[in-house]
Amino acid sequence: MFPTHPIPILPNSLTQRDQKARNWVIYKGKLTGNIEYAWIVLSVDNSKMRYRGKVGKVDLHPSINSSPLSKCKNYHFHHNHPTNQSLSDGDYYMLAMNSRMIRCFSHGHNGSMHCASWVRTPTIPLWKSVELMRRMFAVGFQAAETIGYHYHPKGSSLLKYFVPHMVGQVLHERGIISFSGLTTPSEVAIVNNDQLLFQVVLEAVRLTR
Ligand SMILES: [Zn+2]
Repeated sequence: MFPTHPIPILPNSLTQRDQKARNWVIYKGKLTGNIEYAWIVLSVDNSKMRYRGKVGKVDLHPSINSSPLSKCKNYHFHHNHPTNQSLSDGDYYMLAMNSRMIRCFSHGHNGSMHCASWVRTPTIPLWKSVELMRRMFAVGFQAAETIGYHYHPKGSSLLKYFVPHMVGQVLHERGIISFSGLTTPSEVAIVNNDQLLFQVVLEAVRLTR
C-alpha cells in the first residue's frame, strides 16, 4: 500500500560522509532557497567529498556531463528538495544517464529523504528501461491530471506531486532501480486521507508495459 517504502533507510544508516553531504545541502539550501548539491567520490584511495553550491536550479538533465562531476569516478550524489518532494523525474533520468552515479539522494528540508540506485542488468538494454520509465511518467502524470480534475481544484497538482515517487516504487518492484526513503508523517497523512485516488494512479503506473 502506498506510500510504504520497500527498504526504509534511516539517517543513521548513512555513512558519515553521506550524512555530512546531507547536512550540507540542507543547510545551504535553507540559506539560499535553491537546490544545492554535493557529491562524494567513492574511490577507496582517494576518497573525497566535494560540495558545490549552485545559484538557481540545478539542471537535472544529462548535461551534468559538462560539470566537474564528469571527471569523477563513482560517486554518490546528494541534493536538497526545498519542496520536500521525493526524487523527481529529472533525477531518475540523471541517474540512468550517469553510470558512475551510484546513488542519487534527495533531501527535503522537513527531514524527508529518498535514495535510488539504478540496477544495471546486462540482459535488459538501458534504453529499454529508460523508455519504459518515460512511459510510466507519461501514464502517471496523465492519470493524476484526469483523476485529480474530478476531485477538487488542487487535486491534480497534489496527485502529480506524488507521481515520481510512485514511478520510483514501481521501478523498484520491477527490479530496474533500488529505491528507498523516508517520507514525513504529514505526507503519509495526505496520502492516507485519499488512499483510493493514489491507488488508482499507482495501479495505472503499475500496468504500464
Ligand atoms: Zn531532485
